[in-house]
Amino acid sequence: IQRCLDALERPKRLLVLLNPFGGNKCARQIFQEEVKPLLDVAGVSFTLEETQFRNHAKDMAKAVDLSQYDGILCISGDGVLVEVVNGLLERSDWEHAIKMPLGIVPAGTGNGMVKSLMEDADEPCIATNATFAVIKGHKRALDVAVVAQGQVRSFSVLMLTWGLIADIDIESEKYRWMGSMRLDFYTFVRVFRLRHYSGSVSFIPAPGYEGYGDPICIENENESILHDTGINGTEEVKRKTSDCLGALTGPETYEWKSISGQFIMVWLHNVPWGSQDVMPAPQAEFSDGYVDLVIVQQCPKWSLLSLLVKLKDGAHVKSRYVQYLKVKAFRLSPGERTGSSVQGGIIDVDGEVLAKSKGSSGDNRAHLMSYGP
Ligand code: ADP
Ligand code: MG
Repeated sequence: IQRCLDALERPKRLLVLLNPFGGNKCARQIFQEEVKPLLDVAGVSFTLEETQFRNHAKDMAKAVDLSQYDGILCISGDGVLVEVVNGLLERSDWEHAIKMPLGIVPAGTGNGMVKSLMEDADEPCIATNATFAVIKGHKRALDVAVVAQGQVRSFSVLMLTWGLIADIDIESEKYRWMGSMRLDFYTFVRVFRLRHYSGSVSFIPAPGYEGYGDPICIENENESILHDTGINGTEEVKRKTSDCLGALTGPETYEWKSISGQFIMVWLHNVPWGSQDVMPAPQAEFSDGYVDLVIVQQCPKWSLLSLLVKLKDGAHVKSRYVQYLKVKAFRLSPGERTGSSVQGGIIDVDGEVLAKSKGSSGDNRAHLMSYGP
């Protein structure tokens, strides 16, 4: 009986989204040689679609007839998966659509989500094992966070970062010709010409992390976010946004805390791994309703380099220069340039620039709410 039940849980029809330009441009080969033979043997039928342009995966997730499929499988990096989640959540039937099981086979530069999933299952993060997990119908719930800044609103499943890591991630794009060396090279550049950003981060700490930051008062959080994000459009848009922020409504009152001053990096992570060899948030869980927050404010350059090396196994959290906590909601307010600090900075959400912050005005603030699984 158990076998029959297991078999019922297995997907029979998949929509496969393949990004031929992700990572080393190997996705087609990975699919033909490692994924397709396993799907065929297992009797899983599929429709293969290649992504033709940026946001194509999002458009497809928004328009697809979901009743035709038991799951969507991405042969890509994290970028395409993030687009699929955003596409599903922008549908009018999003409450139903977001229940569609999503799978991922590593074929990008950043494969943080699949690495986190495979590591959790004690399996190597390779295409065949990832495909097996999909065929067997292994599933787990995942938190989605709502990110809002000015008029921009999106959904994040991986991370939000500001300061050093965002600068390395985004600015090193211009050294793409270096291949995989570019991140290491640009990390050195940025550490030796270190920028400190001024501003403040506010957050609702998870139980057990109340000791971080100073108490602040934020009244009627949902109203203020609807206002800050300029959402004053239709009732439908308002309803959907407040539904998404629903995790914060209800009888509980939340105590906001704040840390102000200069920052080297602020990094929020929803799952442990950021890529196949970087684990920023060793204690992160897929669906605990919280995001893990890593903050470095002041740190000598040599200690910072050693701390960055320790990211490969999560040992950086033991550094006395690192503050590590879990939060329910988060607000970033980049501040004015003070003394040696730099103004503004890039806010990077799941590998994309949310917006280049100019500092100062309230419009630049980014809000992140951890939403339920
Ligand atoms: P990587 O991990 O290498 O960044 P991803 O699969 O995450 O790879 O994809 C990165 C980005 O590539 C995504 O934001 C996606 O929108 C974009 N993309 C998808 N298809 C194409 C295409 N045909 N040409 C250019 N960019 C594309
Ligand atoms: Mg979590």
